[in-house]
Amino acid sequence: MTPRTAIIIGAGIAGCSTAYALAKRGIQVTLLERHAEIASEASGNPQAMLYPRINGDDAASQFALDSYLYSLAFFKSLNLEPADINICGMLQLGFNPRELARIQKVAAKNYAEDIVQYINSDEASKIAGIDLIHDALYFKGAAWVNPLQICKRLTTHENISIKTLTKVDSLLKNNDLFEIFSAEKLIAKADIVIIANANEAKNLGIDLHLKTQSVRGQISIVEATNESNQLKTIICSDGYLSPATNNQHCLGATFSVDNLESALDEEDHQANLFKLKSFSLALHENLKNNIKVGRVSFRCTSFDYFPLVGALLDNTKLKASPPRLNAKAESLPWVNGLYMNIAHGSRGFTSAPFCAELLAQTICQEPITMNIELAVLMNPNRFALRKLGLKRLAKMTT
Ligand SMILES: Cc1cc2nc3c(=O)[nH]c(=O)nc-3n(C[C@H](O)[C@H](O)[C@H](O)COP(=O)(O)OP(=O)(O)OC[C@H]3O[C@@H](n4cnc5c(N)ncnc54)[C@H](O)[C@@H]3O)c2cc1C
Repeated sequence: MTPRTAIIIGAGIAGCSTAYALAKRGIQVTLLERHAEIASEASGNPQAMLYPRINGDDAASQFALDSYLYSLAFFKSLNLEPADINICGMLQLGFNPRELARIQKVAAKNYAEDIVQYINSDEASKIAGIDLIHDALYFKGAAWVNPLQICKRLTTHENISIKTLTKVDSLLKNNDLFEIFSAEKLIAKADIVIIANANEAKNLGIDLHLKTQSVRGQISIVEATNESNQLKTIICSDGYLSPATNNQHCLGATFSVDNLESALDEEDHQANLFKLKSFSLALHENLKNNIKVGRVSFRCTSFDYFPLVGALLDNTKLKASPPRLNAKAESLPWVNGLYMNIAHGSRGFTSAPFCAELLAQTICQEPITMNIELAVLMNPNRFALRKLGLKRLAKMTT
């Protein structure tokens, strides 16, 4: 039966796209966010690039491509303001022997030209509007979007109410309803709860075996020059540079698992600038003294790099009484009504909307449209089940 009410914890792109997917199915959603504004953490960068990183036929590549195509079509359907989405295309450069081999391998797959094309450095230079010395994969439909405006657009729906400055500390199920507590005060009740608060999912007082880690990232905002203003597409090596908007480029991003510092780091700005050298030495020379500001935030990444999406098991009961190897999914200790959509790593603006639709279909017991071989990889209980040696059950959809 479709639930009537839902509470979503966390208003980044995962929470906002889940809110949208449920609201359009007639569910009354309350979105709880600890900050004064939605999209204030990882989803709060000034721009998010929409592009896939693909290698070949593996599941990660298939997921990256399917999420990219889904999210592009989805964002286009939202009729965003032209300032909030720019379908400028992107060039992924074969900037070292390993990357060149990868993009050649992708080219050999003969994807449709309107998805991706292999082009030589001359063609790449023409498309980019600046001189490039590397061959590239050209994703014609790739884009950047304005994360805050996307999140606002997704949550402007009569079935969604947002409560900011509301930090959830714990939840419990009382008969058929979930009760949500903040500073020991009961603040909300609903039929179902969706945990969408990324790295903080571990701190809700629920026994979860998630295997996620926080990965710090810093972007640099760079003032454009006459030369860099010629750039027409996103270019990407082990980092990315967006074409200038309002005379500024977004240059990113660093990765660090052992640095939890939220203040900007000059070394990270230099690391971002260094990435420019792999695009073009002239561009590096041009922009090297132009960093104006930056922003630090933290990705939430799972140990196998796939998101964690779906219905949750009671991990305490699971450990106390481990199911038999041939147990049926229905016999497992589900917490009826408790779901999750987290761990979108470095590609949340493509993966989260795709996963939000999967989750809404699961909740409303609709047919799953995601390729089922990919959907099983999202199982949010997979690390807990694998720990108990239940590999078959770890590969089920929830
Ligand atoms: C530097 C950097 C650059 C990136 N660039 C790109 C890019 O170009 N393209 C792309 O697709 N992705 C990019 N990503 C990844 C993308 O930003 C993330 O995958 C995505 O934002 C994750 O969204 P989320 O909703 O899961 O998490 P978040 O955006 O972190 O949202 C979680 C929300 O939960 C709230 N919250 C936490 N605990 C509680 C609580 N107890 N109660 C209430 N609220 C709570 C937080 O305040 C937060 O708003 C980048 C990430 C980084 C760090």
